[in-house]
Amino acid sequence: MKKIIIAIDGFSSTGKSTIAKQLAATLEYIYVDTGAMYRAVTLYALRKEYINAEDFSVNDLVENLDNIQLNFIFNEAQGFAEMYLNGENVEQEIRTLKVSDFVSKVAAVPEVRYQLVKQQQKMGENKGIVMDGRDIGTVVFPNAELKLFMTASPEKRAMRRYKELIDKGEDVKYEDVLRNVQNRDYIDSHREDSPLRQAEEAIAIDNSDMGLKEQFERILNLVNRTINA
Ligand code: C5P
Repeated sequence: MKKIIIAIDGFSSTGKSTIAKQLAATLEYIYVDTGAMYRAVTLYALRKEYINAEDFSVNDLVENLDNIQLNFIFNEAQGFAEMYLNGENVEQEIRTLKVSDFVSKVAAVPEVRYQLVKQQQKMGENKGIVMDGRDIGTVVFPNAELKLFMTASPEKRAMRRYKELIDKGEDVKYEDVLRNVQNRDYIDSHREDSPLRQAEEAIAIDNSDMGLKEQFERILNLVNRTINA
């Protein structure tokens, strides 16, 4: 069967990765969560103290980009690939609110984007890939056969993310999660390099009031139509 590239972009916590994982498992495609890559670089910058609430030494980070090795390693039990930073599994740590609070600043640095986009394009060389992020349909794979753009109201998205964090045992407040989601949306869509925007050919899916099953069926239909076109 013809293999395609599926690009899924959209605002924070719109359920992109849930859908992308499900699609990849069904189609036997590779799934790449590009947000995890930006998060891992942010974790590195936090640990090295290149970034904190007051300061961001962009030069230090840029000069050390070659020391950051990112790998996805498939976890059979989980059914998806986890993020490794210089050989260490950081899948849990990159999802904390602390990393979320800094990631959009790090992701706005053009040199960071250049490095990560290069790696992402290589991963899609043989197609058969579902990739989610903010610039997949616009910058990473402008020729992707299927582009989706996911949206939902900020309150719904923050509530989903809040529940996820609470389930993982993080001590967070809903208001802080909402603020984080709104801040990231703002920075991601206003940065100069590769701002978040809907690609012209992308199909918008607002899942504010849509269940996972309905959403998945609708998207799988779009995929089948594209593959058989
Ligand atoms: O997808 P996730 O919410 O984990 O992404 C974390 C952050 O990484 C986003 O808020 C955005 O700042 C950045 N990002 C990006 N480009 C991508 C994927 C993520 O700028 N392709």
